[in-house]
Amino acid sequence: MGIYEDLGVRPILNATGSVTRLGGAPMAEEVLQAYAQAARESVRMDELQAAASRIISEVTGAEAGLVTSCAAAGLTLGAAAILAGFDLRRMESLPDGSGFPDEFVVAREHRNGYDHAVRSAGARFVEVGFDEVRAGAGVRRVEAWEYEAAFGPGTAGVLYVFNDDSRPPLRDVVARAHARGLPVLVDAAGELPPRSNLRDLVAAGADLVVFSGGKGIRGPQSTGLLCGRRDLIGSAAVQTLDQDDHVELWDPPAELIDRSRLKGMPRHGLGRAFKVSKEEVVAFLTALRLFAAGTHDRELPGKRRLLEQIAAGLEGGSVRCSVHIPGNGQGLPALEIALDEKKLGRSATEVCRRLRLGTPPIQVGHALLQEGKLVISPLHLDEERARVLTSRLREELT
Ligand SMILES: *Cc1c(COP(=O)(O)O)cnc(C)c1O
Repeated sequence: MGIYEDLGVRPILNATGSVTRLGGAPMAEEVLQAYAQAARESVRMDELQAAASRIISEVTGAEAGLVTSCAAAGLTLGAAAILAGFDLRRMESLPDGSGFPDEFVVAREHRNGYDHAVRSAGARFVEVGFDEVRAGAGVRRVEAWEYEAAFGPGTAGVLYVFNDDSRPPLRDVVARAHARGLPVLVDAAGELPPRSNLRDLVAAGADLVVFSGGKGIRGPQSTGLLCGRRDLIGSAAVQTLDQDDHVELWDPPAELIDRSRLKGMPRHGLGRAFKVSKEEVVAFLTALRLFAAGTHDRELPGKRRLLEQIAAGLEGGSVRCSVHIPGNGQGLPALEIALDEKKLGRSATEVCRRLRLGTPPIQVGHALLQEGKLVISPLHLDEERARVLTSRLREELT
């Protein structure tokens, strides 16, 4: 019996990728060993985060970085840093942002469920642009001048949600924001791979960038990466690190937290609840180094072949298969299986449900169910799992 069966929990065959509700990405053996080793001794968390900052700076090109308890926590801490800076009173009052600039300008087409994390810091959104392409009522996406037109005395910063297709280009938004001295916080949680994004978004001028640690980086699921301007990272660090010490003894590493910018020692901040353990920090850094060195990129051709094998195994049913590679051909490939729902007599949603309830329970990507498609991610698949998946799909689709 496995460790999960002991608890009466059935392991699933994960064909949907690094999603949170199924426990994230698979971790490399080195990452698991790093976690166990890190657990054997005590360290100062501020020193550990300063070391993390150096490594994050190397791999992203940013001035500094912080390991957070996930990308969503990175968004909250990033917003808190922008809202409070090194102002002790503002740190203490968050998430109440009254009495100082607390507005984040965001495009309507960038709004999503994860932006709750930005609002949790106390930010209030001012929306710009429309989503008229999806409304079927126009051809234009949000434009950079619309951000500028919304900037005013209450503006604290900009939230930009990055993907292959996001508009306007990040550089254009950064130019308009920086012209007014406003910082840009970028949510790129799921945009690794491609590995190039680790550096490109910082190079495009973003002041803070957030990546998930438990998606493409394949670190512990409860980790994330916040990187960017040293002063903002310092503010985020002081708002999340434990502050229960004597003022006379407080001695944070200067490279992470510039004490000369603070008028005193803040108390526990808004981010105190987003605790990251020393084991998670070390395991995350191990995963980040593997990812940045291209270890996972070398697996991509093999992952693609697995998807092609699955597709070949489904030929002849009421399906059409195609392999897609996002991120300008550098991302993780995905197999789309388009069903002929009429011929099959069953909807893609129904097939998805039957796979979840079968043995083994199988979870496939569900983003395109409304278009009658199942999506297969190879992240958790090996030859054996691909074989089991193909045979279950054949049962359901032929
Ligand atoms: C996954 C995701 C997040 C949240 O990442 P976590 O590390 O799970 O907190 C935030 N924003 C976007 C766009 C995402 O895809």
